Amino acid sequence: MSTNVTKRLAAGANLPALGENVLTNTQEALREALSRLGYQNEMYELLREPLRVLTVRIPVRMDDGHVEVFTGYRAQHNDAIGPTKGGIRFHPDVTLDEVKALSIWMSIKCGIFNLPYGGAKGGIICDPRTMSVTEQERLARGYVRAISQVVGPAKDIPAPDVHTNPQIMAWMYDEYSRIRESDSPNFITGKPIVLGGSRGRDKATAKGVCVAMMEAVKVRGLELKGLKAIVQGFGNVGGNVASILHEMGVTVVGVSDAGGALYNPAGLDVPELMERRDSFGMVTTYYDGVISNEELLVQPCDVLIPAALESQITAENAHQIQASIIVEAANGPTTPAADEILSEREVLIVPDVLANAGGVTVSYFEWVQNNQGWYWTEEEVESRMEGMMVRSVQNIFRMSERYEVSTRLAAYMLGIRPFAEAMRWRGWA
Ligand code: GLU
Repeated sequence: MSTNVTKRLAAGANLPALGENVLTNTQEALREALSRLGYQNEMYELLREPLRVLTVRIPVRMDDGHVEVFTGYRAQHNDAIGPTKGGIRFHPDVTLDEVKALSIWMSIKCGIFNLPYGGAKGGIICDPRTMSVTEQERLARGYVRAISQVVGPAKDIPAPDVHTNPQIMAWMYDEYSRIRESDSPNFITGKPIVLGGSRGRDKATAKGVCVAMMEAVKVRGLELKGLKAIVQGFGNVGGNVASILHEMGVTVVGVSDAGGALYNPAGLDVPELMERRDSFGMVTTYYDGVISNEELLVQPCDVLIPAALESQITAENAHQIQASIIVEAANGPTTPAADEILSEREVLIVPDVLANAGGVTVSYFEWVQNNQGWYWTEEEVESRMEGMMVRSVQNIFRMSERYEVSTRLAAYMLGIRPFAEAMRWRGWA
C-alpha cells in the first residue's frame, strides 16, 4: 500500500454533513455511494427505505399481575440476494428510524462480506435492566408470536443485539419451533451451543474488531507493543474487545459503561474488570475516580474503539479526540459532522459496517451449520472469519485509495453494489 494511502484513508471525507438523525445520515451516505458507482436515482429510491417494516404491540403479563403493552419493530431492508438477517435489540431508546437505519447497515455488512443475505433489524422499546427474567422471557416469546409470519430460516433470520443474549435467542427459537410445530434451529442465530449455536459466536464481533484494528495498525505503521487503547462500552462487544486486546499485549487505558468511565494511562486490570462486570456490562460502580463517557473519549490513546451506542463521536468532541485510529465496534458511533472533522485531522477510521461484521459473519456460519447439521470447531470458525475480515479490510482500503474516497464511503460502495446488481438481474430496477 502506498505511503500516502493513510491520508486518503482518513475517513469521513466525501460524505455530506447532515443533522444527527441516523436514518437521514445513512440515506445520504447510500445516495452518495450509489451515485459514485454510477447508478441512477431509481436504484437509490429502491434502497433508501427497507422493503418491509412491521410494527407490533406486545402485551406482557408482568410479575405483579398487570399487563404492560410493549412496542416492537422488525425492518427488512432488502431480500434481493437472499433472506434478510439481523439482530434484535431491547432498549428504551429504540425508534423506528433507528431500526430502519440499522437494517440498511446490516445489508451493507452482508454485502461487504459476500454473505447470501440482505439486512434486517428488530427492536423492542423496553428496559430489560428493570425487568425480571420471567418478564423478559414473556416479552421475547410475545415478540416472536407477533412477527412469526414474516420471519423464518428462508425469510428473515434474527440474532442478538444490544441487551439481548443467547438465553433470549433460546426462548425465541423455542417459541418459533412451537408455532411451526417443527424444530427450527436455523430460524435464529446466537443460540447457546447446546441448542445449535456456533462455537465462537459469543466473541465473534469482538474478535473481528481486533482483527480489523490490527490491519489499521499496520497501515499506520504502529507497533502492537506499547499501543494504548480506549474501549467505550463494556457489554458483550466492548468487554470482549478489551479482554482480547489485553491478551494481545495492548495496554487498555480506558473503558466505560452506561454509568461512567475509568481511565489509567498505565493500563487497567482488564481480567479484574471482566470478573466484576454484570450481565448488562456495568462495572464502574465498583471503582473510585470514575469520569464521564464524554471525558473518556478525549483522553490520550492510539486507538479508540467505541463499542456502545450511536452518535457518541460528534462535532462537539471530534476536535479533541487524541487517537490516530478509530475502530467502530458499535453501529453508527460517529456522526457525519464528526467524520468530516476527523478526516481533516487524518484520523484513520475503520467504519462500523466493516469492523463489527465478524458477528453477522459467524451468525452466517451458525445458520450454515444448522442447515447441514454438521458442526465446526472453534478454530475453523475463527480462522474462516479472520480470513474474511482481513480480505474485507484490505478490499475497502484499496477501494478507498482507488476512488479517492473515505473508508466509510468505500465500505458503503462495496457493500451496496451486490444489491444493485442482484436487483438488476431480478428485474426490479
Ligand atoms: N446484531 C449484530 C450486528 O449488528 C449481529 C447480527 C447477526 O448476527 O445477524 O451486526
